[in-house]
Amino acid sequence: MKAYVLDAVWAPKPEYQPKEREISDKRAVRGDMVYRDLRAGLKDVPDPAPGPGDVLIRVGACGVCGSDMHAGSAADDGYTNYAGHLKLPVIMGHELSGEVIEAGVNVRKFKPGDLIAVEQMRPCGLCDACKTGFFNSCRNIEEVGLSIDGGFCEYAVVPETYCIDINDIVERLGDKIAAFEAGALAEPTGVAYNGLFVRGKGITPGSNVSVFGAGPIGLASISLARVAGAAKIFAIDVNEERLKLAKLCGADYSVNPAALDGKNDTVSSIVLDQTGGVGCKTVVEAAGAPDSTYPEIVKLMSINANVSAIGRSPRLAPIDLERFIVKGCSLSGSIGTAGNDIIPSVLKLMGSGKLDMRGIITGRYDLSRVQEGIGDAKRGNHGKVMISQFYG
Ligand SMILES: [Zn+2]
Ligand SMILES: [Zn+2]
Repeated sequence: MKAYVLDAVWAPKPEYQPKEREISDKRAVRGDMVYRDLRAGLKDVPDPAPGPGDVLIRVGACGVCGSDMHAGSAADDGYTNYAGHLKLPVIMGHELSGEVIEAGVNVRKFKPGDLIAVEQMRPCGLCDACKTGFFNSCRNIEEVGLSIDGGFCEYAVVPETYCIDINDIVERLGDKIAAFEAGALAEPTGVAYNGLFVRGKGITPGSNVSVFGAGPIGLASISLARVAGAAKIFAIDVNEERLKLAKLCGADYSVNPAALDGKNDTVSSIVLDQTGGVGCKTVVEAAGAPDSTYPEIVKLMSINANVSAIGRSPRLAPIDLERFIVKGCSLSGSIGTAGNDIIPSVLKLMGSGKLDMRGIITGRYDLSRVQEGIGDAKRGNHGKVMISQFYG
């Protein structure tokens, strides 16, 4: 079959001491410290064969994520830009859905013809994080498309436990490709769901919400806030194209900090003006720009607000903690989508017609043009770029 494979040379930097397990199975905890001289491209690989507890799927759609762009691009020293788990060679792509074409003998819930979405994160179940229920912080986590084979390909093998039925979505949408796209969008939407409802404090109906960053996670946060009954939703981004998508997802106000003078007109002054001085009870940082967002975030938090930190960055945030203390606010960090019924809940919202994320798809590329699709996504004007062997 055709598959988009990333490969590189295992060459740990002198200052990085890989642990025993990293050396034995070549699964780097920090990809950027170990993998050099990247080679990525579409090639012919053997069709995967399902084990007794696996299903074989024909991949329906697979979204391009920021991690795909980072992993496949090199810094000046030739090392990958991706700082997370990486085991190469790997078939990339982790936001996938598909149709079951074969089920292993021990598979109980799925049969050929079923449409499914795939859970990306595979926690070990044994470490202290897993035992505490914090599966996304698992010390031995495997990630589809980064440490085990993913979805930029024709066929994939998935253990039954990581498959979630989306037959109700195809019934509702009346179209398989539409259902594949919805299923593939469950992963980025799940990241937002985790930040807002699992690690965060949820959304009080009638309260105001600010979302910093209108990439896929921010757009999903806005959509979920709308479904959950937010009063006023503010989208903040420096990219006008993405702000248009934010409105489409249900934002009431779009604010571009680059268009403000930063003195009299600031993000927080606009939000406070529009909320009668109350501010926002839920704030999402999905911009990954903590040095510029947090000084404004602390000013627009309402009493008893929660800030969901989702966007990742090596930079530090200057935070006026006094405001957190005086206003009784909290800050919650979150990562990933494993556990806590996250992906199933997102898919139930989609299946019931309450949530449709397909409006954020702004680029569709056939599998044969996956490289082009990833390159296009890197330009940053997109909501979500989707890859499918069915686009033609
Ligand atoms: Zn993703
Ligand atoms: Zn674990």
